[in-house]
Amino acid sequence: MPIPTSMIDPFGRSVSYLRVSVTDRCDFRCTYCMAEDMTFLPKKDLLSLEELDRLCTVFVEKGVRRLRLTGGEPLVRKNIMHLVRQLSRHLASGALEELTLTTNGSQLYRFADELADCGVRRINVSMDTLDPDKFRAITRWGDLSRVMESIEAAERAGLKIKINAVALKGFNDTEIPSMIEWAHGRGMDMTVIETMPMGEIDADRTDQYLPLSQLRAELERRYTLTDIPFKTGGPARYVEVAETGGRLGFITPMTHNFCESCNRVRLTCTGTLYMCLGQDDAADLRHSLRASEGNELLSNAIDEAIGRKPKGHDFVIDRRTKRPAVSRHMSVTGG
Ligand code: SAM
Ligand code: SF4
Repeated sequence: MPIPTSMIDPFGRSVSYLRVSVTDRCDFRCTYCMAEDMTFLPKKDLLSLEELDRLCTVFVEKGVRRLRLTGGEPLVRKNIMHLVRQLSRHLASGALEELTLTTNGSQLYRFADELADCGVRRINVSMDTLDPDKFRAITRWGDLSRVMESIEAAERAGLKIKINAVALKGFNDTEIPSMIEWAHGRGMDMTVIETMPMGEIDADRTDQYLPLSQLRAELERRYTLTDIPFKTGGPARYVEVAETGGRLGFITPMTHNFCESCNRVRLTCTGTLYMCLGQDDAADLRHSLRASEGNELLSNAIDEAIGRKPKGHDFVIDRRTKRPAVSRHMSVTGG
């Protein structure tokens, strides 16, 4: 493979991180993410695993150094480990620095060993509460004991785990301290995320939205938080919690826009490339992928898309703005 040169967008940001939503389907229905009765894409519209591999490989050749598989739930896609195994060759060659995934943990117990064997070193597990009944309520369909089993399996496999929790007013705000202590006590980092207005859900987002500036102020009454320069390639800003010795990340798309340092683009399971999570503009790479056996058309289409990467999003959640900022759900482009 030729030495990758990185892709640079019109604002001088180098695009080195690709997130791939390998399926829009999921075995949970988290209330802030999906409506209970979701219509998913017809299976025939999905790219095959071979096509996803080809697309990801072109991105790696063009300078992507980090690849995150997400969804929907990535581990419900049939034969997903075949794709992970294929992509791991880019880790072995040194072209890719990191191959990772974000999962709800429902199936991870089955795949943890194989993921580690493929060179995956760390994973994000999404979990918004440690209470089994609340867990069932927020995911509608989830079983916390399965997720715990998965976390244990991942630990045994030597995977580094980060817990992602969406901060939800009146749901887990008072529980966040005990989640931090639990995660840090097990040597796991934790990140809290603000809800983003993506896709129609059954609830009113204004009722759920908890600004992390407020959560941080509350945590500071209990803990000593020190800003640290730690970075994982994503948008989280980290602090160290003196009392636990662990790291806590804040992802604050609403209260503190992080677009100026954005290094990412997002690919859907149908080959649509979104240059920004919070904007509708997208490029249809499936067409270029299928139009020719060589990768030149595809590479040109990617360059053209990166040339249109917008400066940032304009998410708003307030009582007057009832409609989501973008109509697609988070499960289409992945978190
Ligand atoms: N199913 C996997 C999971 O839950 O980890 C991967 C996909 S999920 C869409 C990725 C992340 O996005 C999860 O941590 C989830 O909590 C978060 N998420 C989903 N909808 C969101 C929203 N509207 N605002 C903020 N985060 C959201
Ligand atoms: Fe599924 Fe993840 Fe969305 Fe929950 S957040 S419904 S687990 S895709």
